[in-house]
Amino acid sequence: MSTHKIAVIPGDGIGNEVVPAAIDCLERIAELHSLDLEFTYFGWGCEYYARHGRMMAEDGLEQLAVHDAIFLGAVGSPEVPDAESLWGLLIPIRREFQQYINLRPVKTLDGVASPLAVKNPIDLLIVRENNEGEYSEIGGRMYRGLPEESAMQTTVFTRLGVLRAAHYAARLADSRRGQLTSATKSNGIVHTMPFWDEVVAETVREYPEVTLTSELVDALAAHLVLKPWTFDVIVASNLFGDILSDLGSSVTGSIGLAPSANLNPEGDFPSLFEPVHGSAPDIAGKGLANPVGQIWSGAMMLEHLGHPEAAAHLQAAFESALRDGFGTRDVGGTSSTSEFTAAVLTAINTLA
Ligand code: ATP
Ligand code: MG
Repeated sequence: MSTHKIAVIPGDGIGNEVVPAAIDCLERIAELHSLDLEFTYFGWGCEYYARHGRMMAEDGLEQLAVHDAIFLGAVGSPEVPDAESLWGLLIPIRREFQQYINLRPVKTLDGVASPLAVKNPIDLLIVRENNEGEYSEIGGRMYRGLPEESAMQTTVFTRLGVLRAAHYAARLADSRRGQLTSATKSNGIVHTMPFWDEVVAETVREYPEVTLTSELVDALAAHLVLKPWTFDVIVASNLFGDILSDLGSSVTGSIGLAPSANLNPEGDFPSLFEPVHGSAPDIAGKGLANPVGQIWSGAMMLEHLGHPEAAAHLQAAFESALRDGFGTRDVGGTSSTSEFTAAVLTAINTLA
């Protein structure tokens, strides 16, 4: 029996609906695959903030550190500024645990219509550098000595930071169709992006089976809309990866479907698994939330913990429920969150 300690943070809004749905599925999968998943719940998020003035316990990072993985719903609320909720929980976790890869699969699913006229199935992975780049805290407002009030923000790429993201992406491409696309903007951003290009190219040379294409991010965004099926693995800096992965998740049908993993690939620290969507206050508490993004994130967690068969089983189960016509309102269906989850549980049993 493999034992894994998993920290569960349902968070806010629909996080409290989709996390229990995904845990039900994970528990059934664990039973069938003889895994011992030990879930410990942490009631952190915006309600906690209202009571304690902080997003998580003061020693929150130490509490999380003893776990093998973190399973997060969503954090955010209209009452708490995004900067507080993000910088009070998610960003400290990503940085403390060196989750330097944000991995987001983009895949068309049978039974879900894409908003685009997609000619071929889409199956690509977006690898976003998650720890540095454009989201640095270096910069500020300038008032004195300048003709105008100004603001500046510095992008920081370290050789190690770019190198390890490029290695991760190249290894993935090597295990798939061998095509790696790197998002750049070295025609306009003349210091940091050429450095990114250089380090990515050097790294990918170590993978003879991988073909690297460096593409300007504006053209790449257009191609993601016009011919998304031509991509295999995309590697991008923090900001570009953020934008491209939201674009990616919308071309396959609904933001409610999209999963993500914040990975520390070496396993020195816990990795975090969460759906791409937020707390969706507009539909919270109504049983309308699509749990697929959360369930799929659970499958990514199983894969990361070294259980590819259990992961594939869970993946096949939600894909089968969608193919059979079950689906929440955002994908054109009529199922409630719990009805859809019941269909996934049935498929888990059928596919066992
Ligand atoms: P946050 O600030 O927490 O990111 P947000 O409102 O910016 O929240 P989302 O929560 O992702 O962003 O919501 C964007 C839109 O997508 C909303 O209309 C929401 O209802 C819808 N949505 C998000 N997640 C789901 C889901 N799992 N199922 C159905 N609809 C969803
Ligand atoms: Mg948002």
